[in-house]
Order: sequence, then C-alpha cells, then structure tokens
Amino acid sequence: MAGNNRPYPHAPQTGHSRLAELRQAKQAWTQADDPVARLYRRTSTTLSLEHLLGIFAEELARAIPYGQLVYRHRLGCQDFVYSTGMGGAHRCDYQLNLEGAHYGSLALTRRQRFHEDELEIIEYLLGIVICPLRNACQYALVEQAALTDALTGIPNKRALDMALARDCSIDDRHGDRFTLILCDLDHFKEVNDTYGHVIGDLLLQASANALREATRDGDSIFRFGGEEFAIVLPHSDCRDGEDVADRIRAAINSIRIPCGDHQVQVTASAGVATHRRGEPPTHWVARADDALYRAKGAGRNCTRIAHVVGSTGTEPV
Ligand code: GH3
Ligand code: MG
Ligand code: MG
Repeated sequence: MAGNNRPYPHAPQTGHSRLAELRQAKQAWTQADDPVARLYRRTSTTLSLEHLLGIFAEELARAIPYGQLVYRHRLGCQDFVYSTGMGGAHRCDYQLNLEGAHYGSLALTRRQRFHEDELEIIEYLLGIVICPLRNACQYALVEQAALTDALTGIPNKRALDMALARDCSIDDRHGDRFTLILCDLDHFKEVNDTYGHVIGDLLLQASANALREATRDGDSIFRFGGEEFAIVLPHSDCRDGEDVADRIRAAINSIRIPCGDHQVQVTASAGVATHRRGEPPTHWVARADDALYRAKGAGRNCTRIAHVVGSTGTEPV
C-alpha cells in the first residue's frame, strides 16, 4: 500500500520512495487479470479502430458468451464495419454515444436469450471502451482527411505514394501487373485566366466525378497535382491502360460547365506505364510522366504509352 515505507505517517516522501510506490502500482496494474483492468490496459495500447474492436470482442467473450459481434459506423465518407463470429436469433443493440456525439452502433447476437445481469455487464464494459473508441474514430477521421484531396474528395498524392509502394511490392513478389495512367487537363491555365478559378475548380470536381464513373471498382483514382490525376489499374497491361485512358479523356471532354453564355469544356492528355518487376515507384511514375509529356508534345488531347528499347526495337511496356 502507498506510504508503507514511510518512517511516520506524515513524513514527506523522498523521490526514491515515491518512485518505488509508482513502480509497485504499475506492476499491480500490469499484472491484474480481472476483465476491467485487462480492458483498460489493452485498449490504451492502440488507436486502430479495428485492433480496438478486436480487443473488445475478445475481452467481452471472456465475460459473456456471444455468437456474433457487429460494429458499424459511418466514418467521414466511408462505411466502417467490423464483424466477428456467427449470429443467432437473440440480439441486443447499442448506440454508442459520448458527450452528445455518436460513435457507431454495436449488435450482439447468440442462440440463447441475453439476461438482465448479462446486459448490465455488457453495458459496463462498453462504458470502459467508449473513450478509446472515440479516440480511434477521431484518429481514423484525421487519417482519412490527411489522405483525401479537399477540393475533389478523392485520394491525394500522399495516398498515391502509399498505393504505388504497395502495388510495386505486390508485383515484385507475385508478378501481379499494375498499370498507371497520368492524366493532365490541357491548357488549364487558360481556363482559369478566361473564366476564373471558381469555374476551374468546378471543372476539377467534375473531372474527378468523370474519373469515378469511367473506372471500375477495383481501380484507384487520385489527384496527383493541380490539374493532374493518377489512375492505377490492377491486373492490367498498357493496352488496357490505353483503353481506360481514352475512356477517361472522353468522359472529361464531355463535361460542360455553364459560365454566362458559354459552356466551358476541356480536353485532357494521358501517359500510360505498366509497372516492371523490380522497378521503384519513382521510375514507374517518371515513365508515365514521360509518356504524358509526349502526349502534350503530340498536340494534346491524346494518349501515349511508355516505351523501353527492347531487343526487337522500341516496344511498349
Ligand atoms: P498543359 O496543357 O501544358 O498542361 O497546360 P496547362 O495550362 O494545363 O498547364 P500549366 O502547368 O501551365 O498550368 C496548370 C494550371 O492549373 C495553373 C493553375 O492555376 C491551375 N490549377 C492548379 N490547381 C488548381 C486548382 O486547385 N484550382 C484551379 N482552379 N486551378 C488550378
Ligand atoms: Mg495541364
Ligand atoms: Mg500539369
């Protein structure tokens, strides 16, 4: 107990005895094996929502038998769902709120009815996890915002860098082909200069929507720079990339932004490069950028594919 080492009850503690006391308290806390201590201890170790829910699911299962746990929450622009176990006919639901804010819903199901005393235990444990849950939700939102472009709502350059690093290592290990398209709006400075930045911004937003519509679910789209977009296609070679790039350019070209008597429209140029095994992301992007540069040089409003010099001459890659 605190104070046991003191010579008499009100003697001031030395730094040394205070430290010993803290060490003792920490040891007691780390070794305590009751559900409450375990839950406090384990949930303080992570900011990952998935990891946190995994810990809660595990600790709850030690206290109350249940079949399935499902957590749902709308986090920014994404629906987050965590689910573990198999369901049953009996169910209890919780809306997780703290200080007026909502942090998702939790449903537990199992074959047997939930009894009153069990519900009290579940609620008690939820009361412990709600603060770490709020922190993890807020962290996920900040993480999402850091990877999203504010104007268009699509992933930004930082998210692209992460995706390219991941895709390069998948290709290097498993030989899965990825194709990168860089797509740049033509003479966009002129659009801004002629119609103003507000119209320019509307065109950028409409272009991001056109990209969403012209690509498939597994494809990833990014705002690469001011008026440049990047698209990564999995399981695709440069010929697939060329088709998609042309489809994207046609979709961008069909955008009309009304401005006074005018309907403002733009064209786009694209460069396509398929990842080569062992190639670092910077080289891959540089080859796509080089192809884009050639598309600009060829008069814009067209697509060019990255080339390498092979044994039979210059070949697309
Ligand atoms: P090119 O055909 O060679 O690509 O010509 P360009 O005019 O499109 O290219 P340049 O690099 O000369 O100019 C890009 C323009 O994109 C200039 C900049 O004002 C505009 N831009 C970049 N980001 C934004 C933005 O967020 N909103 C708006 N409205 N314009 C932007
Ligand atoms: Mg441009
Ligand atoms: Mg540009």
